[in-house]
Amino acid sequence: VHDAALRDLRSVLGDRYVISDPDVRAPHEVDWTGRWRGVAAAVVRPGSAEEVLEVVQVARRHGVQLVPQGGNTGLVGGATPRDGQVVVDLRRLRELGPVDEQAAQVTAGAGATLTSLQAHARAHGLELAVDLGARDTATIGGMVATNAGGTHVVRYGPMRAQLLGIEVVLGTGALVQANLAGLLKDNTGYDLVGLLCGSEGTLGIITRTRLRLVPAPRTRLALLLGFSSVTDAVAALPHLRARSSLAAVEMMRRDGIELVADHLGVAFPLQPVPVCTLLVELIGDDGEADAGVLVAATGVSDASTAVATDEVGAAGLWRWREGHPEAAAARGLVHKADVTLPFDELSTFNTRIDDAIERVAPGALTIVYGHLADGNLHVNVVGPAADDEQPVDAVLDLVLQLGGSVSAEHGIGVAKRRWVVRQRGETAVAAMQAVKSALDPDGILNPGVLLPDAR
Ligand SMILES: Cc1cc2nc3c(=O)[nH]c(=O)nc-3n(C[C@H](O)[C@H](O)[C@H](O)COP(=O)(O)OP(=O)(O)OC[C@H]3O[C@@H](n4cnc5c(N)ncnc54)[C@H](O)[C@@H]3O)c2cc1C
Repeated sequence: VHDAALRDLRSVLGDRYVISDPDVRAPHEVDWTGRWRGVAAAVVRPGSAEEVLEVVQVARRHGVQLVPQGGNTGLVGGATPRDGQVVVDLRRLRELGPVDEQAAQVTAGAGATLTSLQAHARAHGLELAVDLGARDTATIGGMVATNAGGTHVVRYGPMRAQLLGIEVVLGTGALVQANLAGLLKDNTGYDLVGLLCGSEGTLGIITRTRLRLVPAPRTRLALLLGFSSVTDAVAALPHLRARSSLAAVEMMRRDGIELVADHLGVAFPLQPVPVCTLLVELIGDDGEADAGVLVAATGVSDASTAVATDEVGAAGLWRWREGHPEAAAARGLVHKADVTLPFDELSTFNTRIDDAIERVAPGALTIVYGHLADGNLHVNVVGPAADDEQPVDAVLDLVLQLGGSVSAEHGIGVAKRRWVVRQRGETAVAAMQAVKSALDPDGILNPGVLLPDAR
């Protein structure tokens, strides 16, 4: 990056918010897994949409490449700079508007963390329907940019289903507001809000969002159901879906649970540890009755069942599921594949995945867990070197053979960019590239992420 560009950025943001100090830059230059890193020319911290706009205009003038970054918890390298790019840290845009109880909506700055938004909404008996383990750090802007899913998709859908309006600075250098009023019905042309959701910082920098909220449940019941195979667990899904109180269905395998037990130094509530355990969340007033109906319908024995009816107990059971990513990370650098399978292939995938990885990475540790009711599994592989593409390739290859998706909820980032054409097809990718060149004509927004280079 040219000195003149940094000088212009300083004159827009002030010296304090254009950071070149390597120690301060460092946490912005590596992703959560440690698999992706790069040396940024600078980290800039705009404090308003107008300042983001000016940053984009400076970048256009000088041909500077920008990497939008929120909480940097994304797992596909999309927020990690490639050498020489400028990181745009959006966390100063954390303002939360008043909760609109009439509409059950709120306007949230892109830099607000999920936890801060939840505390704000819950004070009004409401909450954002999307929840995920990285809640204390992940930002609303990052969650929109990745169309994050999380644990409650089975009930409420992903981030796109919560997003009503957006404010964004496009790569063209235009500040666009689309339905920040949160109108529920607005059929007036192309869906810019939906398009920006899941665009991974390649079309625009999101500065504000208008979000739908749902009632915060008065009770949340957590239930562990142990099964002797993944096939049996999948077969229980229709019984689970029949309960209108259903809010989450998370799958854990025995090897993952043993890893977490080791990591936390705690014994799993079900002993012996079942081959496959589902963590089910039920909300509403009938949770306990519903849990009884469920246990009877699935035929799971009492010995293979654990129920938590209070918040502390439920949090204790959730710790098992949420402990998976950190327990894997404690073992070393993690290769992550986040995939969706058709429901009738989930069990085949599960029986074939360990061998598929063993073939390319002998002795690697493979941990599989995920959001079962969404057909979404997370495959974590520990052992291979950071630049070894084979483990993730082996997973994705199998996923495509079985008719699934190479990214369920984490996005494409740099990690899966080579797979986009195989997943979506040449003509669909060409259409996406056309959108990209219209909204980011100079290619300054997150080049190297999501789309293959235009031919
Ligand atoms: C322990 C753990 C558990 C997780 N669980 C889940 C889960 O259950 N479900 C799930 O979906 N994900 C999960 N994730 C992944 C991650 O938390 C989500 O992808 C989240 O949405 C990223 O938010 P972020 O603010 O950290 O974004 P970042 O990592 O900072 O950025 C992610 C992408 O969005 C772009 N971006 C960020 N902010 C903006 C903006 N304002 N405008 C435009 N582009 C932007 C970046 O350029 C990048 O491409 C988990 C991660 C961890 C570490």
